[in-house]
Amino acid sequence: MTNVVLLGPPGAGKGTIAARVAAELDLLHLSTGDVLRDEVARGTELGQLAQGFMERGELVPDHVMLAMVRERVNGREGVLLDGFPRTLAQAEGLARFLPVHAVVYLAVRKDEVVRRLGSRRVCPSCGAVYNLVTQPPEVPGRCDRCGGGLIQRADDAPDVVARRYEVYERDSRPLVEHYARQGKLITVDGARPPDVVASDVIEALRP
Ligand SMILES: [Zn+2]
Repeated sequence: MTNVVLLGPPGAGKGTIAARVAAELDLLHLSTGDVLRDEVARGTELGQLAQGFMERGELVPDHVMLAMVRERVNGREGVLLDGFPRTLAQAEGLARFLPVHAVVYLAVRKDEVVRRLGSRRVCPSCGAVYNLVTQPPEVPGRCDRCGGGLIQRADDAPDVVARRYEVYERDSRPLVEHYARQGKLITVDGARPPDVVASDVIEALRP
């Protein structure tokens, strides 16, 4: 079985692509965002530890993230990691308990990410998410589900998105280069519809 890491900037559609690829290739989809939220919600020892860092506005340290991932992997093969590793140190820690066979990088340019995330609107009342381009509400500015007024999250404002993209690029570059040196990197053009991107990724990973 193959263990895969999926990398890409915010707005590249990692979650959607990962879910489709995992279903098609029968891989365990581990979204570290979901794992983290689940550990916190269940109040596990690791979850409480992570929550402490988050409440202080700090990043959850590598060893805590690694312990969570290790517990989920639990010796099994055929894992698709989405959102992890984020740093070279995490990649080195991961290699101690999970051999990574392929790393897919979803390449999307900054202006495309700004366009995608900039058209996102959310309903603060019920949490529904819309996209003015791909999934607009029936009545402009109103939530289909509850009728609440839609807003743009501060995180999705163009200048904030551009900054997040730049930070991601800077922080992930050593990771991308690390996997490229190992001959594991597969770069896929992520600026296309999710179906097309997912098919390409599946094709590239099939034995
Ligand atoms: Zn709503």
